[in-house]
Amino acid sequence: MFIQVAVPVPGLDLLTYAVPDGVATPTIGARVVVPLGTRVVTGIVVEVDVAPPAGREAPNADPGTAGAGRRTPNVKAIREVLDAGAFVPPEVVALARWTADYYAAGVGDTIPALLPPMARGGRADAHKTTRVAAITAAGLEALSAAQEVSGERAPETLALQSKLSAKQRNALELLAGTPTGIGTAALAARGIAADAVSRLARHGYISVRQDRVDRNPFAAGTDGGQTGVRPPSGPPSDPTRQLTGEQAAALDRLLALAATGEFRAALLHGVTGSGKTEIYIRLSSAVRAAGRRVLMLVPEIALTPAAATLFREAFGERVAIQHSGLSDGERHDQWQRIRRGDIDVVVGTRSAVFAPLEHVGLIVVDEEHDGSYKQEESPRYNGRDVAIVRAQRAGALVVLGSATPSMETYHNAVAGKYERVVLERRVLDRPLAAVTVIDMREEYAAEGPDVILSRDLRRGIQARLDRGEQSLVLLNRRGFATAVFCRQCAGTIDCPNCSVSLVVHGEGSSKRARCHYCNYTSRVPPVCPLCAGPYLEQAGFGTERVEAEVARTCPGARVARLDRDAIRRKGSLSALLNRFRDGEIDVLVGTQMIAKGHDFPRVTLVGVVSADVGLGLADFRASERTFQLLTQVAGRAGRGEQPGEAIIQTLYPDHYSIQLACRQDYPAFYEREMRFRQAMRYPPVLSLVNAVVRSRTFAGAMDDAADVVQKVREGDGGVLRVLGPAPAPLGKLRGEYRAQLLVKGTNRRRIREAVMAAISARPELARRMTVDVDPLSVL
Ligand code: ADP
Ligand code: ZN
Repeated sequence: MFIQVAVPVPGLDLLTYAVPDGVATPTIGARVVVPLGTRVVTGIVVEVDVAPPAGREAPNADPGTAGAGRRTPNVKAIREVLDAGAFVPPEVVALARWTADYYAAGVGDTIPALLPPMARGGRADAHKTTRVAAITAAGLEALSAAQEVSGERAPETLALQSKLSAKQRNALELLAGTPTGIGTAALAARGIAADAVSRLARHGYISVRQDRVDRNPFAAGTDGGQTGVRPPSGPPSDPTRQLTGEQAAALDRLLALAATGEFRAALLHGVTGSGKTEIYIRLSSAVRAAGRRVLMLVPEIALTPAAATLFREAFGERVAIQHSGLSDGERHDQWQRIRRGDIDVVVGTRSAVFAPLEHVGLIVVDEEHDGSYKQEESPRYNGRDVAIVRAQRAGALVVLGSATPSMETYHNAVAGKYERVVLERRVLDRPLAAVTVIDMREEYAAEGPDVILSRDLRRGIQARLDRGEQSLVLLNRRGFATAVFCRQCAGTIDCPNCSVSLVVHGEGSSKRARCHYCNYTSRVPPVCPLCAGPYLEQAGFGTERVEAEVARTCPGARVARLDRDAIRRKGSLSALLNRFRDGEIDVLVGTQMIAKGHDFPRVTLVGVVSADVGLGLADFRASERTFQLLTQVAGRAGRGEQPGEAIIQTLYPDHYSIQLACRQDYPAFYEREMRFRQAMRYPPVLSLVNAVVRSRTFAGAMDDAADVVQKVREGDGGVLRVLGPAPAPLGKLRGEYRAQLLVKGTNRRRIREAVMAAISARPELARRMTVDVDPLSVL
């Protein structure tokens, strides 16, 4: 008997193992201990009763009796079966398999999302490491011996008869449940102290490794562990509250879809503040009453506590949270509760789409357009799209909620694949914010070229201060100055590892130049490193400069900044948001992190310092992102009693994404943007795969990309459009050169297969390649 096993090794596909005679065949979803090279690892059974691997001599017996005595040489046998039943529910295993296949990843890449925590600390700087303990084969053996001695549920006295103490056994059981390992800090928090860990390690029952904790500069708004944001004050959801007419109609429609008990997909297209959350809760309540379960996805870790609190108020203890910011111990416990069936509602970020929840009847993807749903490492899945597939397989209703739906989702709604349910008004008939566009060219002409805050914006902030109201000021760019350039030779100070200029952070003695991609840091030189000229100037500005500028122009204002630099310390994000909510801060300056979800009733002004930050990027989604960001951030104003105002500064006041965001006219934006996507043949008109080749030299990257391009062209029969090779817009990153090719076509499977076939002949190249199916960005 042969089985296929997914092992937690990046890039590895399913591996085939033999089940030795006399060992019962494990079920799909059970964990097994298997040899892999010189190591022994824990994997998950994905398929049973399979044929032996291709290329080997097949056993000359029919498949049903293949295990009976004859074993194909070269196929290794599993060492041990850890679970009598499925550890991961089979439907979740199948979903992970679909994900790996669709996103051109190894099944092994999906395992961290399937199992309780990957042992990774929360935020940490680039050099920080954590100690992670993982159970070894010897440990598993010792554990199962102990379990045999003591029977299923051992009284402690029996456990003591085995070689393990009760405590050691506890530790091993815990570790057996988390084969990727658990951080020693998390173990200590569960009463397994350092000396116990080293004793187990001395016995060889566990291995202890140092895991590097990398910060990912591409991950937007990662905020590991900072979950203490208090939900809005007052009764946030009230079952007796009268729904607005629109809300009631939307809920009726969604209830009808849920009542079919079959797969249905709906877009809940509701302007900011239209009360979508109330609908999610009442819908969940109905689904729960019908005996099914609910998965509620939110884009950001920081948004989970507020959502979870609302659901807890409605459903009590049967609500769990799943996201990577929880401590290993917490995440593990929540996972087990879900797995045991003690949970009806799971609230979490994208990886929660793989939660071991059974009988799912409803999946909500809130802010479905949000880029955080896309994982920017393998498997490069979009949690929203995996959610749709999960709902399809579970016969569930999936609700995609947004004020600014992604082009893909709206396209599907227009095509009739999703039912579109609309909320056009804010609750209590609160008006949408009044939006003013400031043409910064006029402002420069009137006030000089160094103006950062226009007269209207300065006056607006001051007026809020005078009235005791609050302002949000957005600039989607961190740092003090965004470049340093030489007036003599026009050179800029660039990162030695990446093709970008360094960003200046801090002022005075704490001034440093830093790369936002690789974190390279240097002091800002007094003279030009290229020509030795003394005329170095700082150009461009980021959030730090805006913060200083608000403080300078509005004396007495209590100003704070919210961006990735400001919340490096654990807990600082929630502390900052709570201070703002409590009125201890008047003006909050920040990046897109301030645009998301949070509900601050006393904010009546939102200023956008430059709406143009994203527009200059060579990315086909630049306009879509700009429209979404502006609409969302304007939606942060006037959510309380007082009406809101938004002031948007731009050099391109006529650009359609800015114009239409000001009018908050989504359908018009969609029409206009679709014309562009049609003309340029970009998604959602076609499917797109972005492949990037990395190499130590520029020529090497280009040659390899050219090779792939040629093979794709040869293999596809002329059906696909292949663009490239070309230097990637970010041509060098962390010391490696990057060349890119884009493949477009109507059939995604065909594109993926053509690309995979092109690189299959060169495994060495595959390791230097990133294949991104349905990319959110092609930079
Ligand atoms: P959205 O998610 O659509 O932006 P929310 O769900 O956050 O909007 O709702 C905005 C605010 O309106 C919240 O403070 C919520 O408690 C409140 N709210 C929702 N529905 C009602 C209602 N029917 N009556 C009064 N207030 C409501
Ligand atoms: Zn760099």
